[in-house]
Amino acid sequence: MRIYSVVLLSFSLLCCAGENQNLKSTEPPFGIVIHGGAGTILKQNMTSETEKAYRETLAKSIKVGHAILVAGGTSQQAVEKTIHVMENSPLFNAGKGAVLTANGFASLDASFMNGETLDAGAIAGVSHVKNPITAAIGVMEQSPHVMLSGKGADQFAMELGLDTVPNAYFITERRKNALKRVQDSEQKKTAFYDPFIKEAKFGTVGCVALDKKGNLSAGTSTGGMTNKKWDRIGDAPIIGAGTYANNASCGVSATGWGEFFIRSVVAHDIAALVEYKGLDIATASKQVIQKVEDLGGDGGVIVLDTEGNVTMEFNTAGMYRAHMDAKGNLSVKIYKDE
Ligand code: ASP
Repeated sequence: MRIYSVVLLSFSLLCCAGENQNLKSTEPPFGIVIHGGAGTILKQNMTSETEKAYRETLAKSIKVGHAILVAGGTSQQAVEKTIHVMENSPLFNAGKGAVLTANGFASLDASFMNGETLDAGAIAGVSHVKNPITAAIGVMEQSPHVMLSGKGADQFAMELGLDTVPNAYFITERRKNALKRVQDSEQKKTAFYDPFIKEAKFGTVGCVALDKKGNLSAGTSTGGMTNKKWDRIGDAPIIGAGTYANNASCGVSATGWGEFFIRSVVAHDIAALVEYKGLDIATASKQVIQKVEDLGGDGGVIVLDTEGNVTMEFNTAGMYRAHMDAKGNLSVKIYKDE
């Protein structure tokens, strides 16, 4: 009996060792990709300090999500916490540092989708939620709805006990100046031809993550477009346009001229090409960004699939972007030719 147990124990230890090795080698690849907006981002218009600040903040943000994935956290946690860093930085058009409406206020949109369950949540036109991505996740998890807007969405966030701030918290000098310049040039009808003006309009943040369990999540957060009027809402809070995630295909977060991204249903279109036509994410993304361009729009997407493949496709001069894979390799890029 004793000998039998020893034999059995050694046998199971051997089996376990083998299984662990197998598990290790077949462990699903995980990874994370972020963007901080696409636009007329040219080296000649950027000081070296500004460029350094963008690169450092992109790296700092993505490392937060990557550490969560390494520790076995979910892609949802990684997306939320990564986006917090970008929302809290004045550099990006999301949370603090969001672009301003025609009346000089910040009005924020965000959305989130879970690729395992296809649950989704979004908020549009909020003025007081410090981290809109968390409010979007709150809508998904704690309401029977997918999208809430305006005062009701702010109230919902307060009822959940999320951090709220006065609207002035979001407003920076840089965005006030950009609003003034856009308003001046719109009077002269030059708005969309001036590279500064185009860049001043965009700068959304987004994140797509794949966790060790093989689940994808995607999130997007924005202040929208400078000088927006009439409670304009762009693609960022629209599931299927600015954000989409499905374990059967891929996770997508978009940035760019929202009206064209809504009309092209960009995020879902990419996922549909992957799921129904069997295209790889790079081919599908190229095809859909071309569709946006053919309509006259511009911008970009970050896409990740369940094998850990990543693509960052855009038709603008630059897109703030970064990627980290399962091995911890980090790449941070801004310009098209990098
Ligand atoms: N897509 C956003 C919007 O149209 C803007 C951006 O990506 O910068 O609201």
